[in-house]
Amino acid sequence: MNKIGQNLQFIKQRIATVAQQCQRDPKTITLVAVSKTKPVADIEQAIMAGQFDFGENYVQEGLEKINYFTAHWPQYPLIWHFIGPLQSNKSRLVAEYFDWVHTIDRQKIAERLSMQRPVEKAPLNVLIQINISEETSKSGIKPSQMMTLAEQISVLPHLTLRGLMAIPSAEGDTIKQRLVFEKMKLLFQQLKATYPLVDTLSMGMSNDMTSAIQCGSTLVRIGSAIFGARDYSN
Ligand SMILES: *Cc1c(COP(=O)(O)O)cnc(C)c1O
Repeated sequence: MNKIGQNLQFIKQRIATVAQQCQRDPKTITLVAVSKTKPVADIEQAIMAGQFDFGENYVQEGLEKINYFTAHWPQYPLIWHFIGPLQSNKSRLVAEYFDWVHTIDRQKIAERLSMQRPVEKAPLNVLIQINISEETSKSGIKPSQMMTLAEQISVLPHLTLRGLMAIPSAEGDTIKQRLVFEKMKLLFQQLKATYPLVDTLSMGMSNDMTSAIQCGSTLVRIGSAIFGARDYSN
């Protein structure tokens, strides 16, 4: 098996082990392979290893890949997750091509995405991004704004609110890391109590996946541990 396939197998095994340790069914945890900056050849290797969910951060780059796979590999039911910051002027392309958006942080972008979602497609799955570490530099809303934004999203006809996403800042130790993820779990439970369709808590990356799963993550976004370190030089 190729290197990317081996990495995927290793990550899936890790997810299963951690899930079992905390009495969770591994099938309730979705693995999204974050392929930003990586060529389509790498994504093809992942597909050959059975991976169908992919995450992209940049609209143009994501579109090129989606178009490539629609043209060359239409038999694979790929699911594309937009996980980067979204500007209003790029929302139409995201609404037309992606299946999920993890980074909803304001009513205006949600309204645009709903308006721009093609009616023949299933509603766009969206997650509210929470700035859980409350850093001024990071995107996402404050926890106290969650229910207001959720209500605004819930009335939009072409979006389905599926849950929450967070990118916590790196913590020195796993105890602190878990405290942050536990806060997300509480918010997720609060949201689920009002919106029965909510089922997705997107948290956990290559370096903090274990803590995230222990704290109830249902979707991990893994890049470098699958595809290797990213090169941003071009
Ligand atoms: C890049 C990125 C990831 C993947 O990060 P790794 O550390 O490479 O696993 C996950 N989520 C988001 C939002 C990202 O931008």
